[in-house]
Amino acid sequence: MTTLHDLYTRNEFIDRHLGPREADIAVMLDSLGFDSLDALTDRVIPTSIKDTLGLELPEGLGEAEALSELKAIAARNQLFTSCIGQGYYATHTPTPILRNLLENPAWYTAYTPYQPEISQGRLEALLNFQTLIIDLTALPIANASLLDEATAAAEAMAFCRRLSKNKASQAFFASQHCHPQTLDVLRTRAEPLGIEVVIGDEQQLDDPGRYFGALLQYPASTGELFDYRALVERLHAAQALVVVAADLLALTLLTPPGEFGADVAIGSAQRFGVPLGFGGPHAAYFATREAFKRDMPGRLVGVSVDRHGQPALRLAMQTREQHIRREKATSNICTAQVLLANIASMYAVYHGPQGLTRIALRVHRLTAILAAGLRQLGLDVQQEYAFDTLTLASGARTRELHARARAASINLREINDDQIGLSLDETSTQSLVERLWAIFAEDQKTLPNFASLATATPDALPSELLRTSRFLEHPVFNRYHSETELMRYLRRLADRDLALDRSMIPLGSCTMKLNAASEMLPISWPEFSQLHPFAPSEQSQGYRQLTDELEAMLCAVTGYDAVSLQPNAGSQGEYAGLLAIRAYHRSRGEGQRDLCLIPASAHGTNPATASMAGMRVMVVACDAQGNVDIEDLRAKAEAHPDQLAALMITYPSTHGVFEEGIGEICRIIHEHGGQVYIDGANLNAMVGLCAPGRFGGDVSHLNLHKTFCIPHGGGGPGVGPVAVKSHLAPFLPGHAHLERQEGAVSAAPYGSASILPISWMYLKMMGGAGLTRASQLAILNANYIARRLEAHYPILYSGSHGLVAHECILDLRPLKDSSGISVDDVAKRLVDFGFHAPTMSFPVAGTLMIEPTESESKEELDRFCAAMIHIRQEIKAVEKGDLDPEDNPLKNAPHTAAELVGDWTHFYSREQAVYPVTSLVNNKYWPPVGRIDNAYGDRNLVCACPPMEAYED
Ligand SMILES: *Cc1c(COP(=O)(O)O)cnc(C)c1O
Repeated sequence: MTTLHDLYTRNEFIDRHLGPREADIAVMLDSLGFDSLDALTDRVIPTSIKDTLGLELPEGLGEAEALSELKAIAARNQLFTSCIGQGYYATHTPTPILRNLLENPAWYTAYTPYQPEISQGRLEALLNFQTLIIDLTALPIANASLLDEATAAAEAMAFCRRLSKNKASQAFFASQHCHPQTLDVLRTRAEPLGIEVVIGDEQQLDDPGRYFGALLQYPASTGELFDYRALVERLHAAQALVVVAADLLALTLLTPPGEFGADVAIGSAQRFGVPLGFGGPHAAYFATREAFKRDMPGRLVGVSVDRHGQPALRLAMQTREQHIRREKATSNICTAQVLLANIASMYAVYHGPQGLTRIALRVHRLTAILAAGLRQLGLDVQQEYAFDTLTLASGARTRELHARARAASINLREINDDQIGLSLDETSTQSLVERLWAIFAEDQKTLPNFASLATATPDALPSELLRTSRFLEHPVFNRYHSETELMRYLRRLADRDLALDRSMIPLGSCTMKLNAASEMLPISWPEFSQLHPFAPSEQSQGYRQLTDELEAMLCAVTGYDAVSLQPNAGSQGEYAGLLAIRAYHRSRGEGQRDLCLIPASAHGTNPATASMAGMRVMVVACDAQGNVDIEDLRAKAEAHPDQLAALMITYPSTHGVFEEGIGEICRIIHEHGGQVYIDGANLNAMVGLCAPGRFGGDVSHLNLHKTFCIPHGGGGPGVGPVAVKSHLAPFLPGHAHLERQEGAVSAAPYGSASILPISWMYLKMMGGAGLTRASQLAILNANYIARRLEAHYPILYSGSHGLVAHECILDLRPLKDSSGISVDDVAKRLVDFGFHAPTMSFPVAGTLMIEPTESESKEELDRFCAAMIHIRQEIKAVEKGDLDPEDNPLKNAPHTAAELVGDWTHFYSREQAVYPVTSLVNNKYWPPVGRIDNAYGDRNLVCACPPMEAYED
């Protein structure tokens, strides 16, 4: 009989997270010739690296239990009203956007829109974001988000160096009025590139010709509103490019950077409805001139047409355009902040130009009234003009004033020993202004009268900086101002997209697994979402416990000794990891080590990162099996014993195989004085089975948005922690708000802190045994698919035992020759079956890489395999001449509902087109557009919302 104890202690979450049921597992194992999961993974993982001890993590907690443990941790965070500003402002996330977008799996489980036909909804939201940025900055082109304001500034610096006509200059000017965290990240990023960052007062700039570019902040970090026109002219006359970090809300009232000559505008869209979240994630923006668009970092959404001539959206520029340059890239960004950009864009859609202006004016008016009252109280407010931020010369009272504010649960900005900063935001009220007066008033002073000051105080914006140009006139920003309309707009867009809430997304290297509701729930808790990143540390004790515990669990999983959670994407983790290697070599007097070996099969971020970290890239060959050519590696290491800095290698390889030679590879590098960087994007195959920190890695980044359940959000957010062995720990990223202050790689000390609860929940609920089982099932699912499909499509690579790791590559190149059907045609045909295509042409052109993950059930795998097999039969029909070589369901895929009702002139039937298998009759995804014409979009680059007439027939 089942005991009461069993009834209580059974962890139901593990089976909720995992797809295959017990009976399925037995069948699947049988198809592979194994009688247990352990036997399968024993064979797949090379003996030399196998962990025999098991994962040292406690048993998993049930969902309710984990949530209540996390709630207790959250309760240790204290929610004060933060008037700290400095780039982070409280905001009201409109509740329909919170509920229908941020908390809606149709939005948060989508992948980056590389398959545009199934991504029209989020592409439209991103196009709205680009239009918002273009309009507010008055620059003609903007990308679909970057990681944070500080890294956007660093991207802009590298961008200016590439494009400036001051080719000889290696110096970049940064105004002392920039946010301090921006200056810190600039310093980190400049040093390996050999760029000298000169920080100073732009009003005293006497030799502009010395610089290839300059960064200004608008409004200044401490609140001043400077007119930069003359300065920009001087910089331009001296051939320097100008970057302006601008506050989007202020731009509704102020002359935009594009109108005073800026070449680039960057900044954060956080205050457009994205919670503070203790520093992130938030979307940064990047806008520039038309002429510079090809060098822009990140992704760019553009308008094109589909096969039927209808308007359709797609990525006009992918990060690949940078990555294709490999080591010549100026940017390594891959995952960006799509979900947050979409929140910000919907905030603008919901409020419209008048609503945004009203919010900005309210914040500004309250600030002006606050300033007037403070002056009445005898305080020295340093700005004549300000938008939302004031600096007070507080002199000897500084400490006392901070203490009084804290006693009233308010945080002020600690500028220095005799200045205090004060910023208001969308959530500020009359009552806050009065509480602030009470704090600053010396005892016995009468407080100012709000009502009389409110009528007597004029705006404090300089007339020469008032915005005169209109913005957001496009209908999309003017028609969804009622909640009903917005709700339906969000639903309509979501319905156009395929996300994990409809079907599996078998993208190799991307690990599109379950993002469980219990993991997602805590990110909306105010204790996590409403904390300012620079709040005094005693207020963030809960966060500290969360990050400590998460770091410890990630150390246990990876076999490393220390982790930094600061990098806000995998690319940034790579960067932090290589910087740690560089600093380590220097600390040992071996600063000349600058050679980074990278296998030919590496992800594009790897070489881009290496060059950003000041390393020279040397490519190592791969053999016909897709493995690193060990002799080539040895030869290159031996030839450069004094220059070798690092090897960057992905494990299991990007070819989806556990290379047997990994131990030897690591040994060769170490023998020649190098460090081993193991790209951890494929960690999902290893958790609990083997650990990079134990089989030879010195450092890895992890992608919490792959292995550890943070959803992809349609292209971000991500978290890319960097994990190191102890000898590299002293060189992990620091931050002004951490113990080690140097080497910040993100604006906030814990990067995208507010989504860390997702991974914490996953690790806590799965526990050591659950995580190990997840890896085993990821391997089982991939091998099951490989076995089912191998008779139809050749599997490109497998290990010596004929098995793959957690993903498999189908080789479609022979089919192209025999039938003319391309990997693209197969990818688009899968849409007719309701599937998202696997990863296309990475790491090998003309192939599909399939990664099912452990979360997919056997039923779903079978449905996918049936579609792939059916498609193979269609290809056979083309080969045999039973289907026309041009007019066939593959070349014309995907098929829309609209084309069915017109004249049907094809050589195949409507049924063949849209219901190739009968199960689709009851569960059909209808793509909103047909195959998109990329060449047309390239010829006619349109990257903002086109006028509405363009959509009318
Ligand atoms: C996803 C991935 C990266 C980049 O990670 P981001 O989080 O997208 O920046 C790097 N290497 C490999 C092998 C990857 O799959």
